[in-house]
Amino acid sequence: MKRALLLLVALSSPAFAALTAPEAKMVATIDAERDRDFTLLRKLVDQNSGTRNLAGVRAVADMMKAELEPLGFTVRWVDMEAKTQRAGHLLAEHKGDGKGRHILLIGHMDTVFEKDSPFQKLVRRGDTVEGPGVDDMKGGLVVMVAALRAMKQAGTLEYADIRIVLSGDEESAGTPVDLARADMVEAGKWADAAMEYESLATEDGKDVGSISRRGSISWVVTATGRTAHSAGVFGEGVGFGANYELARIVDTFRRELREPNLTYNIGLMLGGVEVAPTTAEVIAGTASGKPNIVAAKAIATGDIRALSNEQARRIEEEMRAIVGKNLPGTKAEITFRESYPAMAPTEGSRALLKDLNAANADLGLPAMAELDPMKRGAGDIAFVAPYVSGLVGTGIVGAGAHAAGETADLSSIPRQAKRSALLMSRWSRMSRSK
Ligand SMILES: [Zn+2]
Repeated sequence: MKRALLLLVALSSPAFAALTAPEAKMVATIDAERDRDFTLLRKLVDQNSGTRNLAGVRAVADMMKAELEPLGFTVRWVDMEAKTQRAGHLLAEHKGDGKGRHILLIGHMDTVFEKDSPFQKLVRRGDTVEGPGVDDMKGGLVVMVAALRAMKQAGTLEYADIRIVLSGDEESAGTPVDLARADMVEAGKWADAAMEYESLATEDGKDVGSISRRGSISWVVTATGRTAHSAGVFGEGVGFGANYELARIVDTFRRELREPNLTYNIGLMLGGVEVAPTTAEVIAGTASGKPNIVAAKAIATGDIRALSNEQARRIEEEMRAIVGKNLPGTKAEITFRESYPAMAPTEGSRALLKDLNAANADLGLPAMAELDPMKRGAGDIAFVAPYVSGLVGTGIVGAGAHAAGETADLSSIPRQAKRSALLMSRWSRMSRSK
């Protein structure tokens, strides 16, 4: 009887033969800690940590500190309130034997749901949880902790050199951004491989690997013209007015700049005799004008999402050139503000995806294809992308991020934690890549 059972287990999971004893122990630990993972997720989610709720972000940082310190991490809170008007970030370091690859884990503790949002608490229905940040990305923080706990139990954490950087302002980065991300960039220069625990991408229900993120830049075009009676429009001395000039610019953008891996949106337009943006970032304002008066001022604001920083710079130059070809009697200028850099796919990151697929095979999981870069928005890992190869989206599977009703799938936590634990343990035994 006993023998038959063993045979059955061996037949049903032949791929598990590829796991070493410590790896099998990590898998077992992760499977055994599912309830613990859920309890931690509930605790993290029920604590509001909207980016502007600085005390809430600090409370989540304390919870993560309480998870990481017992595993042997040295944890440090970096307060940023005076410098960037954001809470700050949590840095954790685990010193291993110094022989393997340096590993960087990235995440964020804030969510888009501020204290005054009606969406505050976690609700569970079977394996589906709904709550602010379950998907983006408190579920990812739980995956990270589950993987590290399994490594501790199996003895593979002992030799691993790991740094963790959890930002408190990913959803609305503090400025200046250079200062807000300085610690993350420094850790990126130290690391050989990075993983970012935002949600895992899926396509047709299958897990997909991701190694790139498009960057995000916002811009403002301001056009000015000579105001006059409308009867003089197009004519000498009056010209076309600010509204025609702005229309020329945005329509030329539409017709001339389209290319693969690029989008640019127009988010807001204001034009008339008097135009007054009411916020510094030009996301609201007032305009007044009349049918029989040529417009004096027009403003448009929008974004650019590009796959590489080179592509973004080139499109900025093309936009500048279009803006400069003014209609008679008008002037225009464009300004850019970078919110997030891009992370282009690289051979180094593809090699990490290969390592992930080796782990998948050994875990008896299907191979993961590489996600189309167009399908992944901006994120923190792009700040370290110039210095270190990385995997994007090693967190939970979820849906509806950034909207009330955001959900996540609890059954993806152990699957993702196993992948992470195997990767980190294996990378810790590979020689450094820099
Ligand atoms: Zn996020």
